[in-house]
Amino acid sequence: MYCQHCGTDAGDSAICPECGKPILIQNESAETAQQAAQKPKRKNIIIIAAVAAVILIALVIGIGLSKGGNKLDPDQAVAAEKEQSERNRENRL
Ligand SMILES: [Zn+2]
Repeated sequence: MYCQHCGTDAGDSAICPECGKPILIQNESAETAQQAAQKPKRKNIIIIAAVAAVILIALVIGIGLSKGGNKLDPDQAVAAEKEQSERNRENRL
């Protein structure tokens, strides 16, 4: 148990050996209670983040499939699209 007044490790003693003030055990248990209450919230955040990541991945895969499963790099894909549009112009002429 650490003293809340000077931060000294008082061990199991109820009184701080450094400053002589009583170690407040109630605050410690209140802290652990707060931590226990925060854990479910953290879990929810992790679950929300995981769901968001899955949705994002699904969107990326969906976009990739809608583009004809093109696995080219974005720059290469743009270049390929430009090539296609240029060919279309040549065909029109
Ligand atoms: Zn102390």
